[in-house]
Amino acid sequence: MRWSQSYIPTLREEPVEAEIASHRLMLRAGFIRKLSAGVYTYLPLGQKTLSRVVTILKEEMDRAGAQQVLLPALQPIDLWKRTGRDVVMGQEMIRFKDRHGKEMALGPTHEEVITNLVVGELRSYKQLPINLYQIQTKFRDEPRPRFGVIRSSEFIMKDGYSFDRDEKSLDQSYQAMYKAYEKIFERCGLPAIAVEAETGAMGGSDSHEFMVPAKHGEDTVVRCPCGYAASKPRAVMAEDKSKASKDKEKPMEVVKTPGVHTVEKVAQFLKAKPTQLIKTILYLADENPVAALVRGDHDVNESKLQKVLEVETLLMADPGTIQKVTGAPVGFTGPVGLKGVKTIADPAVLSVKNMVVGANQAEAHGINVNTPRDFKPDQVADIRFVVEGDKCTKCSKALELQPAIEVGHIFKLGTKYSSRLGATFLDEDGKQKPFIMGCYGIGVTRILAAVVESLNDKDGIQWPVEVAPYQVDVVPLNVQHAAPLKEAEILYDALQKAGVSVILDDRDERAGVKLKDADLIGFPYRVLVSEKSLKQGQFELKNRKTGQVDMVPKEGAVEALLQAVQA
Ligand code: ATP
Ligand code: MG
Repeated sequence: MRWSQSYIPTLREEPVEAEIASHRLMLRAGFIRKLSAGVYTYLPLGQKTLSRVVTILKEEMDRAGAQQVLLPALQPIDLWKRTGRDVVMGQEMIRFKDRHGKEMALGPTHEEVITNLVVGELRSYKQLPINLYQIQTKFRDEPRPRFGVIRSSEFIMKDGYSFDRDEKSLDQSYQAMYKAYEKIFERCGLPAIAVEAETGAMGGSDSHEFMVPAKHGEDTVVRCPCGYAASKPRAVMAEDKSKASKDKEKPMEVVKTPGVHTVEKVAQFLKAKPTQLIKTILYLADENPVAALVRGDHDVNESKLQKVLEVETLLMADPGTIQKVTGAPVGFTGPVGLKGVKTIADPAVLSVKNMVVGANQAEAHGINVNTPRDFKPDQVADIRFVVEGDKCTKCSKALELQPAIEVGHIFKLGTKYSSRLGATFLDEDGKQKPFIMGCYGIGVTRILAAVVESLNDKDGIQWPVEVAPYQVDVVPLNVQHAAPLKEAEILYDALQKAGVSVILDDRDERAGVKLKDADLIGFPYRVLVSEKSLKQGQFELKNRKTGQVDMVPKEGAVEALLQAVQA
């Protein structure tokens, strides 16, 4: 590509709307442009890098035995009603009526469509296993689109679905995808780690997320030096018995706490430690009131709570329900004397002596509350998030929390979709059985941002060779000088013939502008051709990642570059 003929609108100024490096750099280097909140155009350089990622995805999916399809983005809501996910997806699913009044959606994901596809077509165990994937645009009305293409409302996903006859075979399909994912992220230059994850709205049993540690990641991974790694919603901690308080139990009292509401304020007002405060949160679990108790410095993990309770729905109780059930407004719920409510406490609560709790009266708290003397929880279970300093269940070392970007997610779905949509096959024993399914997603557009977020410096992006828009930037320092321009053209042609993806910066621009753009966009290699270097019969070769600059003889330049990009 000749730069003079290309559309690469780089920006000198920092875009004000961009909060993080990847968003800023993708805008400045001319990869993306915003159309509206969460909706982006991919400019030529963005599209180039995207297609490189897509190539990697296809190669690794094909190698793992998956076949590419393309499913419709436009989907009838009726299909979603059959799995109940028209409700579960809530406002995230973009819905509308077509001209005939039929309810439609723009696909946020494709479990329903793919499962429906194989009904009556995949019939026999002899045809299994089958793994189908697509690379397609998804639509999600995200509550808070942000960080450019990291969280957008329209984005490209690679989503794959496996159909197996039994759990053992699913294990193999899952493992094949797990391995393919590791390879994909490695080829993209991403230091992704696989962590145990929650299955969320997708349903199913086993699940792993692939996470790229990053300062501004929206997710948190919990890691232990022993190798344990889990997403924050999934992570478990060892019960720390050493922390049990040995304080003497004092007599319980109810004290007025006018105008103090937050944990910190109540603790300050009552001269208690935040760890002495017990938060009592009222939920409606399948419409029954449940009180969840955690220590003041901990937070309720709703996915753990939902699992422990074995309920379909879990919602925080609204102020009206709280008033009705506890007799007090929001903020004063406590476990003492609470009637008709199941109470479930995190183990850490039990190690606290002389607790401060809501008094189930407006503007009042109970102090010196002790269990089992003053209340006895109906159930004790791990219902909280890990915090820094919690211990690993495997090796008792301290767990570390690290922000990260989720780039991929694999799930064992089991029969959730196949049984609801009547997708069955005839097994060897002559019985009709629902397919055992798995699903495998990768955020294709999010990968670009994750690469930029992990690989950049003060001057710009540092693309890894496999996903760079161009591997080599050939820069004649001054196009008014005939000899360097001619040599640059020769090198450009030779590199193209050798199969290297290359751009020739033939713009009649100041050297400073060209070199700044080269660093900003972040081509892995830059070759500078100047009158000065030509006098020695040499080009100047710069490695963007290491910053190393070498003089290479003109004759050996193609060979040197070929070696560099293939390394
Ligand atoms: P998140 O927790 O980030 O919302 P998710 O659990 O909703 O992700 P999946 O439904 O598992 O995501 O989608 C598969 C992959 O698609 C994710 O791992 C992520 O890389 C990507 N992805 C999901 N939502 C978005 C989005 N709004 N913008 C860009 N990529 C996304
Ligand atoms: Mg999501």
